[in-house]
Amino acid sequence: MSSLIIHGGVGTISNKKELLEKIHVILKEGSEMLSSGASAVDVVEYCVIRLEDDEFFNAGKGSVLNEGGSVELDAAIMSGDFLMAGATAGVRGIKNPISLARTIMEKSEHVFLVGAGAEDFAGSHGLKKMPDSYFVTSKRVEQWEAAKSAGVTTLDHAEKGDSEKKYGTVGAVALDDKGKLAAATSTGGIVNKKFGRVGDSPIIGAGVYADNNTCAVSATGIGEHILRTVLAKDIADRVRFEGMTAQEAAQKGIDYLVEQVDGKAGVIVIDKNGKCGVSFSTPDMVYGGVCNGITMET
Ligand code: ASP
Repeated sequence: MSSLIIHGGVGTISNKKELLEKIHVILKEGSEMLSSGASAVDVVEYCVIRLEDDEFFNAGKGSVLNEGGSVELDAAIMSGDFLMAGATAGVRGIKNPISLARTIMEKSEHVFLVGAGAEDFAGSHGLKKMPDSYFVTSKRVEQWEAAKSAGVTTLDHAEKGDSEKKYGTVGAVALDDKGKLAAATSTGGIVNKKFGRVGDSPIIGAGVYADNNTCAVSATGIGEHILRTVLAKDIADRVRFEGMTAQEAAQKGIDYLVEQVDGKAGVIVIDKNGKCGVSFSTPDMVYGGVCNGITMET
């Protein structure tokens, strides 16, 4: 048996039906890959690539813009095998940052490469680059201009009149038929971000974590909250030390985030038994999952 959950962010989501349709197409493709014997790490990378290529999500193409009007991307991937991990932050022009993270995991002696050095590494490994115009959509320019003129830093889609925002990072977690877990997370970060800001998404243990002995986790939401509570590792530790299921650990992790930092975030979790967990402290979350052959209600 295998399991897969993918997400497209949390918040107040006005176009949920449209986003869920996209999520379910990718979920079906990923589930078919798992059924045909693909590895968890191949499947989470594939699903995140599909989400990065879709401009509706805040990752890869269609990412939010930073203070200077550019797209800077963060991503991380982790394989539950020997806690292998790769991460990248603040990179520009890389079509699929999740593939850069995977290449760092597999082809470098390091875990985390940032900025110009990471871009050079991507170039030397033949990863696809795209011009700025590929990443920047008119919707994101409008959103950035509104944030700049209001002098604020906002999180992804700032719907007019909403007090809650949508935080549209993407992620995937999977268990394959060999009992291996993997997790992947990718984001453009937050609108109008400044000073080289990096959130939780590329930080192992915060926005992403996977260990074959416990669970795989991908988080989304306000990066500063997730970083301060080391959310993904907190959840894995609840499975490890307290024997919780994915759902129990997801819920307790989000409870802790709310208690400690009044945090706004969501998580998807698959444990080593293929059980699924989803929890969020925002009004809504976009996700879809197939757990041990059963499709989750969303
Ligand atoms: N967690 C991401 C960040 O803070 C934002 C998001 O989830 O959309 O960069």
